Amino acid sequence: MAGTRTAQLIEQKPVYRTFPVEVARVRRLGPSFVRITFTAECLRSFGAGGDDQRIKLVLPQPGRTLADFPSGPDWYQRWLAMPDEIRPNLRTYTVRAYRGDSAELDVDFVLHGGPASNWAAAARPGDEIGLLGPDRPGTGRMWGCEWAPPVTASHLVLAGDETAVPAVASIIEALPPCTRGIVCLEVPEEHDRQDWNLPDGVEVRWFPRCAAVPHGKLLEEGVAAALDELRPRSRGGAAELDDVDADTAKLWDVPDIVEDAATPGSFYGWLAGEAGVIKRLRRLLVSDYGVPKQAVAFMGYWREGHC
Ligand SMILES: Cc1cc2nc3c(=O)[nH]c(=O)nc-3n(C[C@H](O)[C@H](O)[C@H](O)COP(=O)(O)OP(=O)(O)OC[C@H]3O[C@@H](n4cnc5c(N)ncnc54)[C@H](O)[C@@H]3O)c2cc1C
Repeated sequence: MAGTRTAQLIEQKPVYRTFPVEVARVRRLGPSFVRITFTAECLRSFGAGGDDQRIKLVLPQPGRTLADFPSGPDWYQRWLAMPDEIRPNLRTYTVRAYRGDSAELDVDFVLHGGPASNWAAAARPGDEIGLLGPDRPGTGRMWGCEWAPPVTASHLVLAGDETAVPAVASIIEALPPCTRGIVCLEVPEEHDRQDWNLPDGVEVRWFPRCAAVPHGKLLEEGVAAALDELRPRSRGGAAELDDVDADTAKLWDVPDIVEDAATPGSFYGWLAGEAGVIKRLRRLLVSDYGVPKQAVAFMGYWREGHC
């Protein structure tokens, strides 16, 4: 797993709190995506971290309110102990954009079915939920931001499925203009493609499944093609990986920022999406293409068949 964070960073960890928010606007981005803009005065003090910052959504059960959600230091244990029919759903999402001046925060939802996705599909201005996030601005990974390539990384590969599109969009819109890289994104439909401001050296390749192929197949082929272009196979240096069970193990590892010789200084991979697909992509990078493990961040954002 990721290396130990410094004590100093842990001390700087903000207090997380629930921000009660209401829907200000709903905008359909494509067949599979809807953008919800949340607003509330309290969002002015939200601790925005940028890039792939994650938050939790607190979704009250139908007919109930945010008042059900426990507060205080033991909120998690109390939340776990609640009866199923009352316990609000908690789901992880990405901050697509934050505008402190207007007290607004955007989240892009994939419409695939499930409590959060269904809530987003039906959301209307004035609907209320909670956002669980840091209560003051932060500076790095302790704030739910995993994007941390070494400064020496000159070639990037970012790959993900539709759930990673909001994170990838936020990351690449903030990249320095000199960045070079290939971004591979698998989405459900052709019209799910989005347009972003990119550095000239970054190319986004979309892989719409159009229901014709299994989840992840096009993404795996696309990433292999990108790797062929960016770095030659180096099987000699390839690392053997432990066989991780994508159904039970937590598929998540973000290397600490290392600027030493173990990191080749030219390549960084960021992978996020369905856990089984991410496991295979990581193997492709590390075992087949010899990318050092320390140069690959991988995150299972969801798991086929699991809530
Ligand atoms: C750090 C992080 C950031 C994330 N950011 C976003 C984001 O910005 N936008 C976003 O839409 N999602 C994002 N996700 C993924 C999101 O948390 C999951 O998709 C979550 O399962 C959705 O909750 P739900 O209540 O709709 O469905 P659940 O109740 O969790 O799942 C219901 C069913 O739907 C399946 N399912 C879940 N996701 C998908 C999918 N994408 N396609 C097909 N089936 C699916 C599950 O396997 C399950 O069978 C993120 C996850 C993480 C860990």
